[in-house]
Amino acid sequence: MIKYIVLDFGHGGIDENGNYTTRGKKHTFPNGETAYEDVINRRIGGMVRAFLRMLDDDYTIITTVDENDPRDLSLSYRVRVANQYPASQTLFISIHNNAFNSRARGFEIYTTRGVTRSDALAESIANAIEPFYKDLQLKLRYDLSDGDKDKEAEFYVLRRTACPAVLLECLFFDNAEDFALLKDPEFVKDLSWRIFVGIRNYLEANR
Ligand SMILES: [Zn+2]
Repeated sequence: MIKYIVLDFGHGGIDENGNYTTRGKKHTFPNGETAYEDVINRRIGGMVRAFLRMLDDDYTIITTVDENDPRDLSLSYRVRVANQYPASQTLFISIHNNAFNSRARGFEIYTTRGVTRSDALAESIANAIEPFYKDLQLKLRYDLSDGDKDKEAEFYVLRRTACPAVLLECLFFDNAEDFALLKDPEFVKDLSWRIFVGIRNYLEANR
């Protein structure tokens, strides 16, 4: 039975002087507004954590980095946090947002290649999000078994964690429409709730 849920909020990198130090994880729109992936990841992740804390005391919720901590902690550190807990009693969920060509939109969820214990968790979260995204005409681009080679660095946290592990790419922060949603507190709350429901459904099915 699962006892530990490790939430990981991707990236970070604002130093003490307010300088953004994680390259490639921000996007400036023509109107001058800049989207920071780490800020969005923490906003969604912090809310998922708040929902998970409503579960009964059987579950301990752990974060690799606090949602108020802007540091970009190393991938190996994030994995070490997860691997402190027994693999058979732990889930690892890494929360990210995507960037591609400013046109792509939608949700992606990743596990490592092949059939693993992570697939059921990924499917449960995808199933919880799908109807909500359908209403918004957002695509669910799932990839439940294969990796996309240009995301190898992010897959590190999936490869090296011993427990079931998934990585969510909630929306594309370099797309103006997706970014507008990511700035909307109602959307963030609804999306976080769906992610929570997906996790909760998995826990209930695996009691
Ligand atoms: Zn990311």
